[in-house]
Amino acid sequence: MSENRLFEKIKAIPKRNYSKQITPLQKLSNLSLALGGEVDIYIKRDDLLPFGGNKARKLEFLFQEAVDRSADTIITASTVQCNHNLMALLMANMEGMKTELILEHWAKSDYQYALDPNQHLYEFGGVSRTVSCGDPVTGPLHTMELALKMKADLEARGKNPYILARGGTCPLGNCGYVLCAGELLEQAKEKQVAFDYVVCPSGTGGTQAGLMIGLEQGGASAPVIGINVAQKNEKQLGAVCGALEGTAALLNVKAPDRDKIICHEEYVGEGYSKPTAELKEAIELLARTEGVLLDPVYSGKTMAGLIGLIRKNVIRKGSTVVFLHTGGFTPYYDYSSMAEMF
Ligand SMILES: *Cc1c(COP(=O)(O)O)cnc(C)c1O
Repeated sequence: MSENRLFEKIKAIPKRNYSKQITPLQKLSNLSLALGGEVDIYIKRDDLLPFGGNKARKLEFLFQEAVDRSADTIITASTVQCNHNLMALLMANMEGMKTELILEHWAKSDYQYALDPNQHLYEFGGVSRTVSCGDPVTGPLHTMELALKMKADLEARGKNPYILARGGTCPLGNCGYVLCAGELLEQAKEKQVAFDYVVCPSGTGGTQAGLMIGLEQGGASAPVIGINVAQKNEKQLGAVCGALEGTAALLNVKAPDRDKIICHEEYVGEGYSKPTAELKEAIELLARTEGVLLDPVYSGKTMAGLIGLIRKNVIRKGSTVVFLHTGGFTPYYDYSSMAEMF
């Protein structure tokens, strides 16, 4: 069958084995009941991956590329509220590589490094250098220019740096989520769970795009519902579409149709990492009914979306849904912006 061929083909791509174990698929009966008992909710626990979340599935491919190129230093970037930089730093340490990080802080113009607990974590991890990149308008482009400059500086000093994609999102990294879809399909078959939807965060869009390709190629018709965590659909649909096309091209399969992309923008609130009342409710509800913690930037907003869509009957009564918990270092996030909500 063609679906198996694709998963086998990706499994044959060399990678570090950061996500060796299969992450659990668990039923959230208490949460389902708390929401009226008419939708069955399952959770895919990618928060239990080594290094704490979804980046492990993407970065195991990218670190293999870095190892194959004999890199001695990793240069990478993410927002300060994201897990990516810390995870990449820890993985680089394991691989015996140095790390230079670009910190984007486009949510707060008055960002102060010294006060950010994340900075301490980078220092615990022995980061070689952190460089600030704060301009919200020129963000990603500016980030790449900076990365290229850092690369040239390192090369001038005789080093062999590897630029690791921002947030781990690039066609090779996204293959991790194509494989995750295959893993989910196998698990669901084994447990006899026929799911109608998958709900995941839509940040850079790599996770969502990988899942969409994997489910489609695996013969599943369940749509992947992305909950935007950073921006409105005007930009987000393009981001997911770009990730779909790039990843499908790398794998030599047909990209899912553009009109199959589902993104919900109504749970972003004022913007990336800005809290909402629905986010607070979602974190409380899951912690109190199921003992599972969510973070206030990605998985919390995504759960807020899931709850909202069940209440609006967009996720229909009588259906079964899988929530992808993408994880994150919960204490690593800055919750101070939520202080006024308690
Ligand atoms: C990076 C991240 C995301 C976003 O994934 P994308 O592939 O960028 O859309 C979601 N959840 C967590 C915990 C993350 O760290």
